[in-house]
Amino acid sequence: MTGSRDPSTRRRGGAGSVAAAGATYSDEDLIRIALALAAEAPTTGDVPVGAVVLASSGQIIGEGRNAREATGDPTAHAEIVALRAAAVALGGWNLGGCTVAVTVEPCTMCAGAIGAARADRVVFGCWEPKTGAAGSLWDVLRDRRLTHRVEVRGGVLEGECAGLVGDFFADRRG
Ligand SMILES: [Zn+2]
Repeated sequence: MTGSRDPSTRRRGGAGSVAAAGATYSDEDLIRIALALAAEAPTTGDVPVGAVVLASSGQIIGEGRNAREATGDPTAHAEIVALRAAAVALGGWNLGGCTVAVTVEPCTMCAGAIGAARADRVVFGCWEPKTGAAGSLWDVLRDRRLTHRVEVRGGVLEGECAGLVGDFFADRRG
């Protein structure tokens, strides 16, 4: 299960590109940028997860990395940090037309926040079978009972995203 939709259902923008016309970032590009953000997290003892928000204009308008330890804030997951920055950049909470790219499958809190922001798409790296809410444990983003559903593509640069988290915990145990 990849969670990805048939590419033929995507809006115009060309094969492998993000939905918005004029966008210059592929899904893989977005995850690479999120990976670079994630790599900074261990400097504060945070689990390396990174996220970016791409606007329909094709611009990245929000970036975040997990900062729970850095800030002492239980909600400071990478996606929440990036959503907040994107809302400031757009001047409002409604992130319709935006794509959220994150290195690890969102948890229930983040999936809920992404839905509440009315984002169009989520692209993520590795699956998280213990907490994932984008298809693993739950599927909060595509629950048919909800009025707003989010397109999901998982498994983008999966190995690199999982490797970063795996190395972090291996170093801790070592
Ligand atoms: Zn989360």
